[in-house]
Amino acid sequence: SWIENRIKQDEIDKYLENGEDFINTEEIESVLAGAEGKEPEPARVREIIAKSLNVENLTPQETAELLNVTDPDMLAEMQEAALKVKKKVYDNRIVTFAPLYMSNLCVNNCSYCGFRTENEQSSRRALSMEEVKKEAEVLAGKIGHKRLIVVYGEHPSTDVDYVADTINTVYSAKMPTKKGYGSIRRVNVNMAPIQIDELKYLRDVGIGTYQVFQETYHKPTYAKVHPANTIKGNYRWRLYCMHRALEAGVDDVGIGALFGLYDDWKFEVMGLLYHSIELEDKFGIGPHTISFPRIEPAVNTPYVSQCKGVSNDDFERLVTVVRLAVPHTGLIITCREDAEFKDKCLSYGCTQTDASSQIGIGGYAELAESAQEEIRQQFVLGDTRSLDTMIGDYAEKGMITSFCTAGYRCGRTGKCIMNLLKSGEEGKFCKLNAVITFREWLDDFAGERTKQLGEKVIQKEIREIKEQSPEKVYQQFMSNYERTLNGERDIYF
Ligand code: SF4
Repeated sequence: SWIENRIKQDEIDKYLENGEDFINTEEIESVLAGAEGKEPEPARVREIIAKSLNVENLTPQETAELLNVTDPDMLAEMQEAALKVKKKVYDNRIVTFAPLYMSNLCVNNCSYCGFRTENEQSSRRALSMEEVKKEAEVLAGKIGHKRLIVVYGEHPSTDVDYVADTINTVYSAKMPTKKGYGSIRRVNVNMAPIQIDELKYLRDVGIGTYQVFQETYHKPTYAKVHPANTIKGNYRWRLYCMHRALEAGVDDVGIGALFGLYDDWKFEVMGLLYHSIELEDKFGIGPHTISFPRIEPAVNTPYVSQCKGVSNDDFERLVTVVRLAVPHTGLIITCREDAEFKDKCLSYGCTQTDASSQIGIGGYAELAESAQEEIRQQFVLGDTRSLDTMIGDYAEKGMITSFCTAGYRCGRTGKCIMNLLKSGEEGKFCKLNAVITFREWLDDFAGERTKQLGEKVIQKEIREIKEQSPEKVYQQFMSNYERTLNGERDIYF
């Protein structure tokens, strides 16, 4: 009966327009077909790019035209433009987080997932609160993360009360470090679609971004991989979960698709775009983040071997086009990708990534950093660098890793953060907070190499802040910076 009571039909129906979804398979196919086979002229591509450079969203038709570009010179121009857009909105900042898998219990039976109920090879459990505390202590006190994405399957043992308890436990962990203390300051949540009242409850607990991926927007493929007799088999319950979240006052929502489930990656890009447009139209807030994981093999998931997948070249194209289509939206690339490829996508399009990730239950406390144990995992990781190594690698390329979580705690979320991003105002807070949180991190956690590389980045950032800010802001910034150097923690604008 728990399963039967999960889906509230009235919480789907209220968002339909004349009984129809905002994802219309025929419409998407026809927009794509309109562009298909007709490589747009360079002048037309440049016209569309100019709109992106002006930090404006693209229409589905414009996006479809860019998806159709194959000429290497034009693709290079588009990638260059994506980098400019990224620089304009996000400058050289990278945001990092760690996934924390709380449970792999799941009542669903998705054919591509190692946690599906019929996969008897997977060992199943949910972390106890004592274990959650240990995981959070390693993440906050040893590795140095400030943001987590906590992950749950869908199961009565991990209902919304369990989710709330685990989040509270994570927030309460505080660990001494070399110079200050470590704590988790933002907990984003990846879990099943839930009901409006439950979303209000989690909003009050203090969740960061509520993330649910549609997996595939293509309805026939969705039906093929999610058995109809499971909760996840209901496409619409999932499709409208972000509507429910925004209605419940959960301001930051994250959407995504599992690329490779459906053969046509361009269709999934269009699905993400239509989803983004729908949320902006109905609630005035687009998604805070978009994710595009590529399907990966997992223990005992033969379905994955039948998937066509997405090549690296096509993946780069999709990152470029999404960056140009939704200039303000954070784009997440994860450790599913190998280090070199992930860093390339971060260099021009993506803005957030995970590091030091363990995706097995209890992995942080029990396994050595970077070790993997496939039987515990939902899939296999490609990038197993430590957070320290990764931050050093980014610093070497002139990028600063920001541990800022101020926006969410100062109410700069949802519509407010989007407006600030659009006006360019948020960038000013972000730059100041990035330097202060990076200072904290270098002093508390960095190894020798990362510290040396990080110092160069910090000094360059401070010079830029001096040049670009009014004297009063610069003085206030320097005062906070000095306090941080002296061991005070969690100071932000
Ligand atoms: Fe459960 Fe999610 Fe895996 Fe489906 S994809 S079986 S819902 S954990």
